[in-house]
Amino acid sequence: MPAPRIEIELDKLAHNARKLTALYGSKGICITAVTKGVCGSPRIANALLNSGIRSFGDSRIANIQKMREAGLDAQFILIRSPMPNEVERVIEFADVSLNTEISIIRLLARHAAKRGKIQPIILMIELGDLREGILPSDVEPMVAEVIGLRGVKLIGLGTNLACFGGVRPTEAKMQELSVIAGNLQQQFGITFEIVSGGNSANYQWFVSTPDVGLVNHLRIGEAILLGCDTLTRERISGLYTDAFTLVAEVIELKTKPSRPYGEIAQDAFGRVPVFEDKGNMERAILALGRQDVDGSAIKPRIKADVLGASSDHLILNVSGLGLQVGDEVQFDVGYSALLRVMTSAYVEKVYLSQT
Ligand SMILES: *Cc1c(COP(=O)(O)O)cnc(C)c1O
Repeated sequence: MPAPRIEIELDKLAHNARKLTALYGSKGICITAVTKGVCGSPRIANALLNSGIRSFGDSRIANIQKMREAGLDAQFILIRSPMPNEVERVIEFADVSLNTEISIIRLLARHAAKRGKIQPIILMIELGDLREGILPSDVEPMVAEVIGLRGVKLIGLGTNLACFGGVRPTEAKMQELSVIAGNLQQQFGITFEIVSGGNSANYQWFVSTPDVGLVNHLRIGEAILLGCDTLTRERISGLYTDAFTLVAEVIELKTKPSRPYGEIAQDAFGRVPVFEDKGNMERAILALGRQDVDGSAIKPRIKADVLGASSDHLILNVSGLGLQVGDEVQFDVGYSALLRVMTSAYVEKVYLSQT
């Protein structure tokens, strides 16, 4: 098989999606599967569809277009605020978009109305993580304007935590979202179809909360793909964490010192590296680099240490493992590694099992 490659076990992903759908469904929460970590792979989306997922979210309209054109019959939500220049594609390919800017919503409304369409939108509320979101104090006038616009329909509210600021989606944060949603519903005489409480990081809140309030929706990416609770990166019980296996090939294997010798200046990426002297070690170079993967977010499945990576070379300490040139090494991937692996044109995508 070609290397480097990412082996994708579709049955494990389908299993994770099925388990999470049942878990969240037990308290009345629907999930949208977020596919941005896998570049909207239609093969993966199809496996999730077969396991009961009916809604997909992606931050890129190109990924949504790709899944749609592959014939997947589901709801597609654009989970990043549309760029003004892509508004027409959003109306064409997305069923719903998440929004925070009135100028962009006006554009969506104008273009949708022109085509005789009504574009459903969800407003995102800032609750402290400081990525996207309307400040709670600004949301009321925004809703007042949005519900008066022809061409868009306000179908819900949402929030996103634990992404930029690492802010935990606590019971208090979720109650705050429910209270905002409840007040707006009352004040404007509307009903929100969707109150979207967050992402994979909402797991601990969900299992411990006595009452989910008005929250009836979550957008779940990493928990399906990598099986973990993203607040701690611990495995969610009953889920697979190894649906993805990255494989790369050894192209050099030599015993060399652990510390570079000579006058030390900047490395290939503008940093001045510091290495501890641990004597000689067996060093393997794998044909895999920063163009393919985030080397700090992978874990060899053998007892090797990742020493670092340049654009096209990954360097491992493989002392005592008996590796040979031409051997393959398998890795677990973290989210940022997965993202880059799936994006790299140089890493072969190998889908295992299922259809
Ligand atoms: C990426 C993203 C998600 C999914 O996050 P995970 O941690 O992968 O579950 C949900 N909502 C928004 C707005 C996102 O950008």
